[in-house]
Amino acid sequence: MFTIEGAFASFSGGFIMKTVSDYFGCLVFDDRVMKATLSSKVYNSLKKTIDEGAQLDIGVANAVADAMKDWAVANGATHYTHWFQPLTGITAEKHDSFISPSPDGGVIMEFSGKELIKGEPDASSFPSGGLRATFEARGYTAWDPTSYAFIKGKTLCIPTAFCSYGGEALDKKTPLLRSMEALNKQALRILRLFGNDTVKCVRTSVGPEQEYFLVDKEMYEKRRDLRFTGRTLFGAKPPKGQEMDDHYFGVIKPRVAAYMEELNDELWKLGILAKTEHNEVAPAQHELAPIYTTTNIATDHNQLTMEIMQKVAAKHGLVCLLHEKPFAGVNGSGKHNNWSLATDAGVNLLSPGETPYENAQFLLFLCAVIKAVDDYQDLLRISVATAGNDHRLGANEAPPAVVSIFLGDELSAILDAIEADTPYNAAEKTQMKLGVDVLPKFNRDTTDRNRTSPFAFTGNKFEFRMLGSSNSIACANIMLNTAVAESLKVYADRLEEATDFENALHEMIRKTIKDHKNIIFNGNGYDDAWIKEATENRGLLNYRTTPDCVPHLLDKKNVQMLTSHGVFSEAELNSRYEITLENYCKTVVIEANTMADMAKTEIAPAVEAYAAELAKSAAAKKALDESVACSYECGLVKKLSALTDRIAEKADELEDALVVLHKAENIGEEANTIRDSVLVRMCELRVACDEAEKITAKKYWPFPTYGDLLFGVK
Ligand code: ADP
Ligand code: MG
Repeated sequence: MFTIEGAFASFSGGFIMKTVSDYFGCLVFDDRVMKATLSSKVYNSLKKTIDEGAQLDIGVANAVADAMKDWAVANGATHYTHWFQPLTGITAEKHDSFISPSPDGGVIMEFSGKELIKGEPDASSFPSGGLRATFEARGYTAWDPTSYAFIKGKTLCIPTAFCSYGGEALDKKTPLLRSMEALNKQALRILRLFGNDTVKCVRTSVGPEQEYFLVDKEMYEKRRDLRFTGRTLFGAKPPKGQEMDDHYFGVIKPRVAAYMEELNDELWKLGILAKTEHNEVAPAQHELAPIYTTTNIATDHNQLTMEIMQKVAAKHGLVCLLHEKPFAGVNGSGKHNNWSLATDAGVNLLSPGETPYENAQFLLFLCAVIKAVDDYQDLLRISVATAGNDHRLGANEAPPAVVSIFLGDELSAILDAIEADTPYNAAEKTQMKLGVDVLPKFNRDTTDRNRTSPFAFTGNKFEFRMLGSSNSIACANIMLNTAVAESLKVYADRLEEATDFENALHEMIRKTIKDHKNIIFNGNGYDDAWIKEATENRGLLNYRTTPDCVPHLLDKKNVQMLTSHGVFSEAELNSRYEITLENYCKTVVIEANTMADMAKTEIAPAVEAYAAELAKSAAAKKALDESVACSYECGLVKKLSALTDRIAEKADELEDALVVLHKAENIGEEANTIRDSVLVRMCELRVACDEAEKITAKKYWPFPTYGDLLFGVK
């Protein structure tokens, strides 16, 4: 039996330091444990389900459930839960204990195959966007055997998909698995055309780099905006921000280092390949990157990582902020979705090869991505649309809301040569006829990294950088996988019919480059000039906000494409449209209410108290000497009074704007009103409050300032 105690038994006496390889994955029911605890018949049958999606019979499920339970109980678990990712964006769990009464008045620990395979949480409160009326509360969870079960606290967590009574997906995992299957199907068609008869499947891999902020818990508790909304709704710029660039890759402070150490330990126990950590650009901002893995597992792991990051922070007296824009005027946090696709033999299809044939194949997959990103710019933008992320994408921060692809100079020059039918390297007269000449080997060029591009080719993978730090990576990968599947389908349809494969291939690559070169941009994505060029000359989309982009989810071309690959049904798309906008509205409304409340009950009274104190001191001085001007006090009192008036007025206006929301006839209209009126008034209220902060004595200010929060962790 594999147990944590067992794993640590070799360190008897505690003299030997345990090494990571000893405890890595010790809380995971992974392949090692399965091999050790299941009969070979059961193991092989389960493997077939995991690798090939074969049906699992109940006998096998019972045996697996039993072994899982024994292992979990031996490792301290008392409960189990189906662990799933509803459309709230966070993971959900409902714990049941293993106990079952025994005739002698005691209990035995039980867990059946039925309980493993299927769950029926009371799901009435999860968002379904109209797919499931609340009176029909039933939702089902179904075991996803491709992602290992694990122990969290005292609970065995079983990764599952979540769907309605009618079979519609109510979660992010189901469409993700469908999109991986769609891509697999089309990629296999292409590989067969290139004569590859041995490949069994093509999977996408993802390594998400996760940015976050760490702030002191005591300070955090004093700010209702952080507690209720995850971001600061007020705060004047501190005297020092990120302008010195002295934080990026800087020395990690002791408290943060201790946090990162424990975080790594916890993640490793869960089999999460946490690999790199460093300070980011903004003060108090950090990044954690895992080693990449299969997309659905990477998605589960990223959800878990975000959860553990917050838990471990609490143990260190810290709070981990995963909001996209916790501080105005300071870089926000994103998530870089490093994405590639590889065969079961481990061949990365986005890696240029050694032979002409391999290179032609590489170029075709590259073109499939270029075409996908261009054709479905809107879906990629929608996949990262949240109220929080609008603060990054819609503002003067990288990456912009305009989707474009960075390929680097060398690859761009090669594509140009193919398009123009001219030699790539004039000096060597290298003809770019595919299938005849070898492409130069592209080395990943670290000097040529473009950090402003939303979608960058980095040697053997693409890095999609528009994701917000708190986003589930599922959404982005669903769209990316399916859009690429669509390109590959178009290619496969054409190539399977072609009489001259090489010519058809060459022509198709040329045509893709010609039709889609507008999406390729190797320059600075921050630049205003680029936004102008992109939208005015190249016709690229620029959806700055969530209400701008989300309605396009239901555009005919998008519905057509997503349903044709079986990734979403039309009903599911309608529900996701509703839920995305609902989440947007709810988020901003909570922020607006918090703002109005803080302005009225904390900020205005503080400013007023300071003004009263000044007035009192001026009066006292004047009582002593009538001729004293007290111009400092009087001038300040006037300014402070004017600001208190403005704060009160702007808070009222904000509340009025919220009242109007109730009149909206549908969610689209409500979201537009939020964008056009609520958010504008929130800005105005903030300006007044931040101005007041700058001239109010520090001891009167009711909560920690930006300076305190950003530089408070030593
Ligand atoms: P950076 O982008 O900061 O320079 P790296 O290139 O080392 O960092 O890696 C960033 C992330 O990309 C890591 O999570 C890494 O595991 C992941 N990655 C590397 N190769 C691939 C690949 N072929 N497919 C998907 N992700 C990958
Ligand atoms: Mg990166």
